[in-house]
Amino acid sequence: MAKKKEEDLRFKKFGTVSFTAITKTNDFVGYLEQGKVMGTKCKGCGMTFFPPRADCYKCLASNVEWFEVTGKGNLVTYSKLEYGPVGFEADLPYAIALADYGTYKVFGRLSKNMPENEIKVGMEVKAVVNKLPNGQLNYVFEKA
Ligand SMILES: [Zn+2]
Repeated sequence: MAKKKEEDLRFKKFGTVSFTAITKTNDFVGYLEQGKVMGTKCKGCGMTFFPPRADCYKCLASNVEWFEVTGKGNLVTYSKLEYGPVGFEADLPYAIALADYGTYKVFGRLSKNMPENEIKVGMEVKAVVNKLPNGQLNYVFEKA
């Protein structure tokens, strides 16, 4: 009898509300558990992706490698949310943001520990892994 293939449901652990369990980039959550925020890079053409992609839309290859989002990004923009989608109510208020790392951009939340009067477009931020009150994992930006 063939052994039943075990399902990789790691993405269930991602975010306040996980919208998917099975993806081609489940290692992303495995890396979060190790404290690393990771993107992917196409081995064919060098395109970098965040969120990570398993398939390159530029050269259509599916040959990517992981890289860690390290160092400092520049805060491009942010928006404070007073209302959230269903399932995110308990997280409010929170701020979503975009940080530019040069060859790629990272979309995420600003850390709730960041004093509001210190948040400025152009400031340096770093992406860090964060554990939500419900035990789920995500990543947030902190002042670099
Ligand atoms: Zn490519």
